[in-house]
This record gives sequence, structure tokens and C-alpha cells, in this order.
Amino acid sequence: PLVFKKGEVVFEDVHFHYEARKETLRDINFSVPGGSTIALVGETGSGKSTILKLLDRFYDVTDGSIKIDGQDIRDVTVRSLRDKIGVVPQDPDLFNESILNNIRYARLGSSIEDVHKACKAAAIHDKILSFPDGYQSVVGSHGVRLSGGEKQRIAIARAILKRPEIIVLDEATSAVDSATEQLIQDAFRELCRGRTTFIVAHRLSTIMRADRILVIKDGEIIENGSHDEL
Ligand code: ATP
Ligand code: MG
Repeated sequence: PLVFKKGEVVFEDVHFHYEARKETLRDINFSVPGGSTIALVGETGSGKSTILKLLDRFYDVTDGSIKIDGQDIRDVTVRSLRDKIGVVPQDPDLFNESILNNIRYARLGSSIEDVHKACKAAAIHDKILSFPDGYQSVVGSHGVRLSGGEKQRIAIARAILKRPEIIVLDEATSAVDSATEQLIQDAFRELCRGRTTFIVAHRLSTIMRADRILVIKDGEIIENGSHDEL
């Protein structure tokens, strides 16, 4: 299993391709000190989400290595790795199940009160209550439909409930109103405090808060520095 210490993450000479013909990521080298926040920015299709997907071994690197506290993530169980990482994807998948179960599975055995608290912090509680069956509403083709931004807030609620050591957020591009935005940002700041955090950032406010910024272009890092340096 993964022995978690400080949460230092190092990408070393990472290459990755989805298909044999074309390399999606080339020569990716960077390190994130434990507890700090790194923002990934770059145009659409540059490879930002792909970098995040390598971290929890949704895909494995084609070449090179990713280490957490010195351990190659291919040398630990996927289970122990994913236990430590909370992922908020760009377009989260929800199970065809109640909203309650969709959130509670992040920490089995948590109370309904804990779920409500997480949903309030993620600014999705009121929306859920507005459905006819509230938290028992089933999501999916025969149930309630949620927008991309709403699904992402459900995923944030999951992460808040899970309280993982490492946080990965693929920030939604879809606009929410500024009051909701503020609530989410506050919840997020609280969640990320003291934890190693990866954020694909679109908003300047998110970028400003990061300790380090990686600029990705066509699968390569073209800049790596603090906000002041870049
Ligand atoms: P965006 O800002 O639009 O989210 P991104 O920087 O996150 O873009 P990625 O999703 O990492 O970009 O995609 C990088 C490249 O890999 C793109 O050319 C994309 O078409 C390709 N790609 C992404 N997912 C797959 C996949 N499952 N199979 C094949 N190619 C893929
Ligand atoms: Mg993406």
C-alpha cells in the first residue's frame, strides 16, 4: 500500500499516448511539495485533464514515473492510492442511484447530517432539496437531470465528505452565478488547506491562489513558476 507522508508528488520524464500514433504528453517534469497547490493552465486539448488522470492511475504512464512521497504509484495498490486521492472531474459520472448514495459512497458509514453538511459547503444542498424526492431522488436517464456544474458540485461534496490527502480538481468552465461561485471557492479553500492540490484552472482567482502554475501547450510544459514569476 501507499505509505503517505507529506504528499509530495513528482512527475519524472512522463510520456503518455492514448493511441499508438500520437504522443499526448511529452517530457513532463515537475514536482509539487506536500501541502501546496499547483494550477494547470493551457488551451483546450493541451493535455491538462490527461495529466490529472495519470495521478490516480485512471491511465498509466507510457514512459517515466509518478512518485508520491518517493513511491512509484505503479508499485502500490490502486486501492490504497485512490483512498488518498479525491478527484473532482470536469464532467463527473454519477451512478444511477439516489443522490444520497452517490455522495455517501465517498465515505461509507457517514451520517445523513454529514452528507447535508458537505452539500451545503458545496452549494448544492438547496438544489437537491428542490427535487420531488430530495436526497432520495435517483439520478440518470429515468431520474433527475443535473447540469455539468451541478454534477461537479456533487463531486465537490463527495470530496468534502471523503477528506482525502490529495485533491484533484478539474475546474468547470461553465459559469455559475457569482454568489454560488463564492460559496464553492470558500468550500474549496477549506478543503485544500494543508493538502497537496492539483487544479486545472480557468478562473484567474484560482490561478492567483496557487503556489505554482504550469502552463501546458500541445502536451508539453512551456512554463513553470509562481504567479509573480510568470
Ligand atoms: P480542455 O481544456 O478542453 O479540458 P485538456 O487540456 O484537458 O482540454 P485533454 O482532455 O487532456 O485536454 O486532452 C489532450 C488530448 O488528448 C486531446 O488532443 C484529446 O483529444 C486527446 N484525448 C483525450 N482523451 C482521450 C481519449 N480517451 N482517447 C484518445 N484521445 C484522447
Ligand atoms: Mg480537460
